[in-house]
Amino acid sequence: MKNRILMTPGPTMVPKEVLDVCHLQPYHHRTPEYFKLFSDLNSNLKKIFKTNMDVLTLTSSGTGGMEAVVANLFKRGDKVLVASIGHFGERFYDITKAYGLDSDIIDFGWGNAVHLDILNDALKKDKYKALIVTQNETSTGVTNDVKSIADVAKKHGTLIVVDAVSSLGGIPLNMDEWGLDAVITCSQKCLMSPPGLSFVALSERAWQMAEESDLPKYYFDLKKARKGVQSEKPENPYTPAVSTIMAVKKATDMLLNIGMDTVYKNQHAIGEKVRKTVKDMGLKLFPDEAISSDLLTAVQVPEGYKAGDIINYMSEKGILVTGGQGHLKGKIIRIGHMGYVTDEMLNLTFNALKSALLDLS
Ligand SMILES: *Cc1c(COP(=O)(O)O)cnc(C)c1O
Repeated sequence: MKNRILMTPGPTMVPKEVLDVCHLQPYHHRTPEYFKLFSDLNSNLKKIFKTNMDVLTLTSSGTGGMEAVVANLFKRGDKVLVASIGHFGERFYDITKAYGLDSDIIDFGWGNAVHLDILNDALKKDKYKALIVTQNETSTGVTNDVKSIADVAKKHGTLIVVDAVSSLGGIPLNMDEWGLDAVITCSQKCLMSPPGLSFVALSERAWQMAEESDLPKYYFDLKKARKGVQSEKPENPYTPAVSTIMAVKKATDMLLNIGMDTVYKNQHAIGEKVRKTVKDMGLKLFPDEAISSDLLTAVQVPEGYKAGDIINYMSEKGILVTGGQGHLKGKIIRIGHMGYVTDEMLNLTFNALKSALLDLS
């Protein structure tokens, strides 16, 4: 099997210390050693979400966490607004539609961030129960200013749901301080672990809303998950992805040992380095630099090249990057640099990209 370096916007590289726990025999999930592991994981997650509320662990990818929030928070026909800036905003809108919500979407355009005045007008015009927003739009490499967006939502008494799937643990997010009502993330992005888990936290207000929810749910019943977390023997309603739980516990220990402020600073430095290096190669960034993500960099495919050729060339050199989604397919290349990223990985990536540009010209 050929091992490639994943410079993709998830799954991301898993550090050796985390890989070392992945091959252990998984604990049985109804035993004291599991209760201890799960309890430690829960307290780590609260520190990373920056919340006093429980963080729930679901066995699913990030999308399952998004679906769980929709199914648990709302009633059929509830009015919600999705402020979309790309593929993942559209996915959240699709989920709300699948559950029969009366949802609206504002498309701010792929490559843009949410415009606060336009958002404010939309929230003024209609009464929405909740606003849904993506913190880091992985399809375009744009980061939204969630704190300011939450301030706008607050003015209108609208709950705010944040897809932080590709951002939590990489860039600042303060759930309680910013007044966020639902925050979702997963194991395989900034949390440096294999895929398999999503994590969801709800505010007091959101839990009150959950009491009224009449949408169908069974596996993703967050009240059941909360009961498990709050138990004296913290556990999950059904068999969780124990090996991934062991991994995320280890990875979050590592992040907290470094300290979240240092993690954010390092992540920002990586973002700056990637942006500078690709610009020095003569490439153009896709989004405006002021809203560029520190977690992934989207670059425009230069004239005379094919995105697929560059991606295949780099893959042959052992570096996996990805192309654009939706209508950006063929137009951009996305280099993921979230979570576990070393100087060596960056240098190999830059070298592979440089030689692709030379050899394919
Ligand atoms: C990766 C991602 C998701 C969820 O993807 P899964 O494949 O279900 O884990 C959701 N939102 C954003 C912004 C993402 O980057």
